[in-house]
Amino acid sequence: MNKIVDFSKFSSIKIGPIAEVEVINEKQPLNNHFLIGGANNLLISNNPPPLAILGKEFNYIKIEDNQLKVGAATKSGRVFSFCKKHNIGGLEYLGKLPGTMGGLLKMNAGMKSYEIFNNLISIDLENITKEKKDIDFGYRYTDIHETIYAGTFDIKQPFNYSLVEEFSIMRANQPSNPSAGSAFKNPQGDSAGRLIDAVGLKGFKKGGASWSKIHANFLVNLDNATFEDAIFLIKEAKNRVFEEFKIELEEEIIIL
Ligand SMILES: Cc1cc2nc3c(=O)[nH]c(=O)nc-3n(C[C@H](O)[C@H](O)[C@H](O)COP(=O)(O)OP(=O)(O)OC[C@H]3O[C@@H](n4cnc5c(N)ncnc54)[C@H](O)[C@@H]3O)c2cc1C
Repeated sequence: MNKIVDFSKFSSIKIGPIAEVEVINEKQPLNNHFLIGGANNLLISNNPPPLAILGKEFNYIKIEDNQLKVGAATKSGRVFSFCKKHNIGGLEYLGKLPGTMGGLLKMNAGMKSYEIFNNLISIDLENITKEKKDIDFGYRYTDIHETIYAGTFDIKQPFNYSLVEEFSIMRANQPSNPSAGSAFKNPQGDSAGRLIDAVGLKGFKKGGASWSKIHANFLVNLDNATFEDAIFLIKEAKNRVFEEFKIELEEEIIIL
């Protein structure tokens, strides 16, 4: 089954074409399609590769064998509400981190030291369940190149309300304009935001896009920004930071 998605509405940065997307409701090979989750970390051009998305069959949450099992199409907000209701701790930051379980796991998304892999037990792939110990993962990185269908988590900790408060405070200094989160990964021992600021790009605009005045590593869509506007700003930041600091910024945003 296919559906038409307007990425200028669906993606968090509100940039992208109207495109046909294959909806996957049973485990199957991707056949050269790029799998999207909630498009919270994507910058999509007018000429993207063939796209696929997981359908409602993979949108579920259950407690099974005293573990939390979450389908990969399930949104972070729904997982947060479920955990709060059932007094399950360890995923409190999901109240402030947009994404689907598949996208969160693929990116090892998180806030500060709280990452989705912390309480992970295993992930379901097409033919196997892979234990955490068999997966290579790090800061915004995993070596998973297949479709993730579900993640299973430890539920030993109780839900921690003070962490919810902490994550709300952390988010208070983030821009509210459409974005795809942090554009670049933080280089080791430094911060991409500090570097972008240091080369004079904080608040710098191109067309409808800008490096945010509030948080320099956020590429924001202020007013009908185009893919080209965003790419211009990404290249400009990479070039200037390299010229001045000899540091190669690596995109966290995935460009299609
Ligand atoms: C305002 C804002 C704040 C953000 N803050 C943070 C933050 O603090 N920390 C952080 O880590 N991220 C942050 N992000 C980025 C984003 O929330 C995460 O990267 C999230 O994991 C993206 O999930 P998604 O479902 O939207 O994935 P998408 O953006 O759709 O895709 C991201 C990647 O995941 C892959 N993917 C998606 N689904 C699957 C699947 N089922 N199986 C295999 N691969 C899959 C895609 O192929 C792609 O490679 C922020 C984004 C926004 C908009």
